[in-house]
Amino acid sequence: MNLFTETNLSPDILKAVGELGYESPTEIQKQTIPFILSDIRDLIALAQTGTGKTAAFSLPILDMIDETSRKIQFLVLCPTRELCLQISKDIKNYSKYMKDIKTTAVYGGSSIMDQIRSLKDKPQIIVGTPGRVIDLINRKALDFSAIHWLVLDEADEMLSMGFKDELETILSETPDTKQTFLFSATMNKEVERISKNYLTNPHRISVGSINEVKKNIKHEYYVVGYRQKKEALKRLIDANPNQYSILFCRTRMETQEVADFLMQNGYAADALHGDLSQAQRDTVMKKFRLKNIDILVATDVAARGLDVDSLTHVIHYSLPDDPEVFVHRSGRTGRAGKDGISMSLIKPEESRKLKQIKSSTKIDIVEKTIPTGDDVIKAQVGGVFEKLFTEHAEDIFEFNDSLIPDLSAFTKEELVHKLLQFQLKDLAMYYKDKHDLVEQKLSSRDDDYSRRDKGRDRDRDRDRGRDRGDREPRAASRDSRDRGGKPRRKDENMVRFFFNLGKKDQLKKLDVLEIINKATAGKSKKRAEIGDIEILEKFSFFEVEKSFSENVMSNIPSMKFKGKEMRAEVAN
Ligand code: AMP
Repeated sequence: MNLFTETNLSPDILKAVGELGYESPTEIQKQTIPFILSDIRDLIALAQTGTGKTAAFSLPILDMIDETSRKIQFLVLCPTRELCLQISKDIKNYSKYMKDIKTTAVYGGSSIMDQIRSLKDKPQIIVGTPGRVIDLINRKALDFSAIHWLVLDEADEMLSMGFKDELETILSETPDTKQTFLFSATMNKEVERISKNYLTNPHRISVGSINEVKKNIKHEYYVVGYRQKKEALKRLIDANPNQYSILFCRTRMETQEVADFLMQNGYAADALHGDLSQAQRDTVMKKFRLKNIDILVATDVAARGLDVDSLTHVIHYSLPDDPEVFVHRSGRTGRAGKDGISMSLIKPEESRKLKQIKSSTKIDIVEKTIPTGDDVIKAQVGGVFEKLFTEHAEDIFEFNDSLIPDLSAFTKEELVHKLLQFQLKDLAMYYKDKHDLVEQKLSSRDDDYSRRDKGRDRDRDRDRGRDRGDREPRAASRDSRDRGGKPRRKDENMVRFFFNLGKKDQLKKLDVLEIINKATAGKSKKRAEIGDIEILEKFSFFEVEKSFSENVMSNIPSMKFKGKEMRAEVAN
């Protein structure tokens, strides 16, 4: 089966899938679709997120679902709210032309009353997280008596998050006649136990080992001393322009420290870790998905719920202890047929840990040297051309030749030269007098991630825990520090906004003033007071008098700056 048209799926489904640009089924789809369409046995499928597993189970089920019945026939359980939203969105896309099919997502951290109201629409498909599904069962808002198909998605993750009891309760609420499909990235004792107890004579499918799936990832490592780590990171980022990446750290404190360092240096980065509230995490993930930030600094746990396909790089700022975590982190790039790069920063004393990762994963991780200033500039020039030929500015605005002055005194080469010099001048200035980083070698002491380091990481997190009680929320603390580290006094009468444009959009303070004035101009003669304006590389912050906040938020999205959409949100 090389084409979707060979799958026997209904024309409505094929049309929707075609519109999404899917041409041929992925490996897991090739194996799962014919099985689900023709077999009544349960199924265990070993597959990771990114392999196309959502379509693998939902397309054949949509093909068989009874559109005339208004009972719940298909239930998907998954570990996180993020995944829940992603799967329900995918299913809604696949069933776009099945007008009687309704899908509802139910997950924690959101109003249960709203979800109960949407269940009154009588959806045939529910995608939910175990905790919220139990709450809704207890409130008698869910009736699972007519379920035909049950999918346990990321079963290993659900069990490791402690949802064992919830899963067992939900499973016991569903009819014995249903067909159960268990999807898991790994097979461990707990998953085996659940499948033994709740699946009958399951058929098994596996889409190859994790490493086979990810042959399109290049793995590199860089040896750097502790003191040079941040500078080395800056160089790696500068030498890999146009990247869209997740940078993994070991602890929450390290995550925030690295994110702060990057933001202070003008990168569009932000932190995602467990010290943030759910609302703050949602905001960061949204910004990352919309590419308002292009480097997400995260802990392993916090990044678990984030599912993004087009990552160009994964950066291991600190190596994990477990080789499987290394594979899992790296596998977030190189998805959907694209190539990916995984870069690890390694301290000289971490040679044993590196060896262990290499030998147990069989991944070829190649040593590289930290880029010099010249390497960075060369890569940046390449980056400008890459952008030039992949981003089609001509679709956004027409450039009128009459706007260009007479340039006949210059050759084409001179003009290209000048434009590049102009574009890269800040970076060139930065690297002009910078020495190359001292080359480091892996230590023969094989001192692994020493007890001393472990102790230090633990102490830092403990200190942070102690501080947490009287700490301000993260965004507020970021706002209250100046870029130079000076504390900024908070003016109760002003509201600080995040603004999605920055230096790269040729935004100047005067432009921001003009934008705010336009957005806040009303019938009354009173002018909005404007406070601090801070323009960073890819985004900015500004302060406006509190009573004008509504005008800023509602008017700015309907305005444009040099053809670009604008967005302002309260910065906490
Ligand atoms: P999943 O593993 O379900 O999270 O899917 C990973 C990504 O691959 C999603 O963005 C899907 O939209 C996409 N995808 C799934 N199946 C196909 C396909 N046959 N062809 C192209 N993209 C696909």
